[in-house]
Amino acid sequence: MQTTGPNRDRAPSASSQPSAGPEKLPGIRHIIAVASGKGGVGKSTVSVNLALALQQAGYRVGLLDADIMGPSIPVMLGLPTGEQPEMTADQKIVPAQRYGLKAISMGMLTGDDSPAILRGPMVGKYLKMFIGSVQWGQLDYLIFDFPPGTGDTQLTLAQSVPLSGAIVVTTPQDVSLKIARRGLRAFETLSVAILGIIENMSTFTCPHCGEETDIFRRGGGERMSSELGVPFLGAIPLDADIVTGGDEGRPIVANKASSVAAKAYVAIATELASRLEALPTTALGAFIWNWETNEGEPAWMERSVRPMGSPTTPVGFRRRDPRTLSVLWEDGRSDDFDVRDLRLACPCALCVEEMSGRPLLNPKSVMPDVAPHAITSAGNYAIIFRWNDGHSTGIYSLKHLRALAESFAAKVVEDV
Ligand code: ADP
Repeated sequence: MQTTGPNRDRAPSASSQPSAGPEKLPGIRHIIAVASGKGGVGKSTVSVNLALALQQAGYRVGLLDADIMGPSIPVMLGLPTGEQPEMTADQKIVPAQRYGLKAISMGMLTGDDSPAILRGPMVGKYLKMFIGSVQWGQLDYLIFDFPPGTGDTQLTLAQSVPLSGAIVVTTPQDVSLKIARRGLRAFETLSVAILGIIENMSTFTCPHCGEETDIFRRGGGERMSSELGVPFLGAIPLDADIVTGGDEGRPIVANKASSVAAKAYVAIATELASRLEALPTTALGAFIWNWETNEGEPAWMERSVRPMGSPTTPVGFRRRDPRTLSVLWEDGRSDDFDVRDLRLACPCALCVEEMSGRPLLNPKSVMPDVAPHAITSAGNYAIIFRWNDGHSTGIYSLKHLRALAESFAAKVVEDV
C-alpha cells in the first residue's frame, strides 16, 4: 500500500512555496497541527484516527505526540512506554511503527508518570528534539498532536515547525467553542492556515434502538466555521467504542472500520487530503510585499480570470498608488481599496469585539495618512497587514476582503 498511495509523484504544493516561516523538513510534504483550546475534547483521539484514516487511504503518515505534559498517544496505539528508543547510526530516533503509522511520543521515552516533571527549558529542549531528531523518512503527512491550549508551548511549536496548516478540534458545547475560537485566532496571528474545524462528540446514536441524541448540543462547530470563514471538516459522533478502543490501544478506525465513527474519520481524512492537494499552486502563491518600496508586489494575472471563477480567490494585487490597493478577483471583478478604509475595517480582536462583533476601534484615533508597511499572504485564505501606526494583528480573510469590497461599493451607490 505504501508504494501505491495517491499522489506519490505529484509535486508538493503549498508547503514548498516560498515562505517567511521555518524551513521545510526534508522528506515531509505536509505537517498538520491538530489543536484544541482546552484538553479533553478528543484532540489526541482525532489525531490518531485521522492519521490512520489517511494511512488507510494509501498515504505515508507519521504521528507526533507533542503533548509533552500529558502524552496519550502511546496508550491509544498500544505502544510500549519507558523504553529507550532505537537510534540510527547518526543518532536519530527511530519512530515506533503501529498499524502502518510511524509514531513518536514523549510518553514512549519517559514512561507514563515522569513527563509532568519536565518544566520550561526542558520542554523546549524535547520539542526541538522531536522536530529535528526523528528519522521520519519520506512522509506525505505528519500529524502533529499539539498540547491543548494556546500558551507559550503551542506558540513556540507553531513557529518552529513549517506547518501546512492547523485543524481545530472542538465539542459542540458553547464553552468549548469559545475556547476553540481563541485557539483559532492564536494560529491566525502566527499566519498558520486553518485547514478546518472538527466537531467531536457530536450526536450520540443509541446502539440498541438507533435513536440519535445531541448530548452536547449540535452544529456549533459548523456555525463557528461559517462565522469565521474557515472550512468545516466534519463531525465525529459520541461513541463508547472510541473510548474503549483508545484505552486498549485499538483505535476505532483500525478496529471497527464499519462503525459510523470510523466512517466519519475516513470522510474527514478524504476532505482534508483534497483540501491539501488543492492548495493554490496556480494562484498568487506566498508573498511578502513591502508596500512602501513596492518590493515583492504579487502578480496581476488577468489571464486567470474566468466567468465562473471564485469570488474569493484573488488573482492579482497591485499598488495602484500609495493610498490605493487594487485587487483582481478570479471572477473578473476588480476593486480599489483606500488603505485607510482597510485599516478601519480591521477584523482583529483589538478592533472588533470577538463575540458580539461590536466595533472597538474609534475611527478618530486612526491617522489620516495611515498606510501599510507590508502586506503578507497567510496560507491561501487571508492577507495580513502591518500598518505604519504599529498595528499588526489584522488578518483579513479573503472572504472578509471581498465582503468589504461589496459593502464599500454598495455604500458608494447609496451616497450618489
Ligand atoms: P484530548 O487530547 O483533547 O485531551 P483525548 O483524545 O485524550 O482528548 O480524549 C479524551 C477522552 O474522550 C478519552 O477518554 C477519549 O476516549 C474520549 N473521546 C474522544 N473522542 C470521543 C468520541 N467521539 N466519543 C466518545 N469518547 C470520546
